[in-house]
Amino acid sequence: DGVVYAEVRRPCRVMILVNPQSGRGQALQLFTGHVQGMLTEAAVPYTLVITEHQNHARELVRKADLSQWDALVIMSGDGLLFEVINGLMEREDWQEAIQTPLGILPGGSGNALAASVHHYSQSPPAWNEELLLSCGFMLCKGLVGSMDLVSIHLASRQRLFSFLSLAWGFVADVDMESEKYRHVGAIRFLMGTLVRLASLRVYQGRLAYLPVIEAPKLPKGSIKAHHPPSTPQHPSLCSSLPCRLIPNTSPNQNSRHNHNSTNSNRYTITNSSNNAITTKRPATQCESKIRAQEDSLLPGLDQPVPQSWTVVREEDFVLVLAIYQSHLAEDLWTVPGAMADDGVIHLFYVTAGISRPALLRLFLAMEKGGHLACGCPHLVYEKVKALRLEPISPQGMITVDGEMVEYGPVQAQIQPGLARLICG
Ligand code: ADP
Ligand code: MG
Repeated sequence: DGVVYAEVRRPCRVMILVNPQSGRGQALQLFTGHVQGMLTEAAVPYTLVITEHQNHARELVRKADLSQWDALVIMSGDGLLFEVINGLMEREDWQEAIQTPLGILPGGSGNALAASVHHYSQSPPAWNEELLLSCGFMLCKGLVGSMDLVSIHLASRQRLFSFLSLAWGFVADVDMESEKYRHVGAIRFLMGTLVRLASLRVYQGRLAYLPVIEAPKLPKGSIKAHHPPSTPQHPSLCSSLPCRLIPNTSPNQNSRHNHNSTNSNRYTITNSSNNAITTKRPATQCESKIRAQEDSLLPGLDQPVPQSWTVVREEDFVLVLAIYQSHLAEDLWTVPGAMADDGVIHLFYVTAGISRPALLRLFLAMEKGGHLACGCPHLVYEKVKALRLEPISPQGMITVDGEMVEYGPVQAQIQPGLARLICG
């Protein structure tokens, strides 16, 4: 009838959750000082939500109407993202909810994910405000990749989802004890490490894991033969899709969901100001989503580990650390080869008998990712898909993503590419 309907395109709406208590208590000031202007300039519409107490963010995302939001971004340390991820996984519609792109802006004292994301972008190392600017810039660019999560089972049958680490012994103790040095910022971990070294102790427990079977490297020119697996295979979780992100060079202005090509695993969310969030194809077709609630690799905590697992002979440890990002803190490059979606739990443990200077050397070398080259006979590194830890020492601390959890037997398995992450 001569009426022209204008294409209605929603802007890309970002919820930014700020923990004003995180780090030195300046997260809000850091946001207004360094990020706000950048987002305005890039015309990224956002809503700021300031958390009022612990688990506020968790409750909020558990109940939120997620159709209102194109991304959830955390301006805090890693602890607030842990809340958000677990809030999403507690929803009835967790399968869809966990696909909401997640972003991180370093505002805490433990900014391991921010440091990792920055590292994945192949930028030279950055700290403090420089790291914040880098993460702010990534948010403006809006590229999204997939991120592995790890599901963690505790003795009380509680199940948690983790994006960063599971730690016991030295690392967990430093993490918790250094909370009181929070006002000094990221350097709190170095202070905590020095204090803990003075009272270095041994932690007794049993450790077992399911190793990643790496394909044997074939000599050049040889032909790959197909052999049926000789050992019974675990029901495999679908490995994540390739992670290299292609910048969105030709956004289709007319459609919000723009499939680049029929076979593309990326699509684009465009907003009114031509900002685009380029993502992989939503992983609904990915089997890992369907099986995520099953944890097919894990027997009950009261059952013995399967035959295919490796049981560590030693029972005296200084630390056990399972990590699934490259960085454990801004200045701790723990896993040189890690990617957000490599489908691997990088398991490190240090056995008893290591001297204080040797342990300190490891942590100092970790700043440049050089700890594995130290030749320390007490340090072991394995790539695994699942693990179980049963502490024998009656007291100790276990942390998940830097947050303390119940002390006792714990087991974990990788969930490849379950979440989505805004990255460079
Ligand atoms: P940091 O790196 O400084 O420790 P985190 O993001 O890890 O920062 O947050 C530390 C803890 O504070 C987490 O356990 C988080 O759940 C909690 N928290 C979140 N919001 C608030 C708030 N408004 N007041 C107090 N604690 C909060
Ligand atoms: Mg924290």
